[in-house]
Amino acid sequence: MTSPAAYDDNNIFAKILRGEIPSHRVYEDEHTIAFMDVMPQAPGHVLVLPKAPSRNLLDADPATLTHAITVVQKVANAVKDVFDADGVFIAQFNEPAAGQTVFHLHFHVIPRHEGVALKPHSGKMEDGAVLAANAEKIRAALG
Ligand code: AMP
Repeated sequence: MTSPAAYDDNNIFAKILRGEIPSHRVYEDEHTIAFMDVMPQAPGHVLVLPKAPSRNLLDADPATLTHAITVVQKVANAVKDVFDADGVFIAQFNEPAAGQTVFHLHFHVIPRHEGVALKPHSGKMEDGAVLAANAEKIRAALG
């Protein structure tokens, strides 16, 4: 078994957390942020990130995970309401073999509708105005 790679603070989500590159934020608290995925697999696809640096779930602190999953629940209920979804898909990938492409722990929160297929993971970039409008609705639902 190979040991896991170290956390690299030049990953794109670390840059978003430091405010070096923009994002369409929907939620922030002391420990967590959530913003729109720029290549959504469905309208309303949000990413929830603990601020604490960890590469993925495998090296995360359990207390960090505990808080993050409560934010995932809040965001899941908000996107379900806003997009009138039939369900919500939660996904989280660990290491490239499992599909991880950005190496700061994050949870995908994706509204699902009966009979509507998901778009590909890391597929097509969404228009910024669409992401901004969806973020605004989700922020409003989160209060
Ligand atoms: P994962 O494979 O779980 O690491 O997924 C990374 C996700 O981040 C993908 O769904 C990408 O579409 C998304 N993504 C990549 N760059 C950005 C960015 N700058 N802002 C928001 N989402 C991003």
